[in-house]
Amino acid sequence: MKVLVAVKRVIDYNVKIRVKPDHSDVELTNVKMAMNPFCEIAVEEAVRLKEKGVATEVVAVTIGPKAAQEQLRTALALGADRAIHVATDDKVESLAVAKLLAKVVEDEQPNLVILGKQAIDTDNNQTGQMLAALTDLPQGTFASEVTVDGDKVAVTREIDGGLQTVELTLPAIVTTDLRLNEPRYAKLPDIMKAKKKPLDSKTPEDLGVATGSQVTLLKVESPAERKGGVKVGSVDELVDKLKNEAKVL
Ligand code: AMP
Repeated sequence: MKVLVAVKRVIDYNVKIRVKPDHSDVELTNVKMAMNPFCEIAVEEAVRLKEKGVATEVVAVTIGPKAAQEQLRTALALGADRAIHVATDDKVESLAVAKLLAKVVEDEQPNLVILGKQAIDTDNNQTGQMLAALTDLPQGTFASEVTVDGDKVAVTREIDGGLQTVELTLPAIVTTDLRLNEPRYAKLPDIMKAKKKPLDSKTPEDLGVATGSQVTLLKVESPAERKGGVKVGSVDELVDKLKNEAKVL
């Protein structure tokens, strides 16, 4: 069974995001980049399926600039067997990402495609769903448990009211939620080995997909600064402040 995992290069989640002085976008110069955390969970799940003997090959794919090969090397160090880089310097929106991934799915014919539920830079939460629509494959989004059994996969989904389990017939698309697993750290020998694993590079043109933007970014602003809190000495003082300062009582 072949598993395709989509990984995105995003600003590292530990970095405090800064807006550019001209408000045209967020600052990316000299900013630490990393694999999107939900994609790390996707890679981990695919590697665990391989370790269990369920998957035979794990292929990582990314769409982005040359530097995004770093995230593919990370996926390889974590246990992916080979990687595909769709190279573009354009800002690629979800629909174009989904179209490119659909082409990769057509070429690779994976039995399972695992994506993150959401990229933490644009917070779109739509690529997996769009990919399912374009490929006409069943989808199990927000997965907190994935169990493959023959040509079926049971996906437990985190939904507003609790948990829902759906059974999909493979090939299928799964997007990962936070509680699916705890991703491992790459070990130094695996990082060294990853440098020798195959990484194939292609362009959106090779795949026949236009990446032109449908959306114009007008302005980016930081959220309003939050005022510091105060400690009150007594319940009476709290009630007084709520009544007379916050005017919520
Ligand atoms: P989004 O819909 O943008 O929030 O992203 C959801 C998931 O789609 C991510 O966690 C990735 O698995 C995948 N994805 C989004 N953008 C890319 C990209 N440029 N390259 C590879 N995978 C991507």
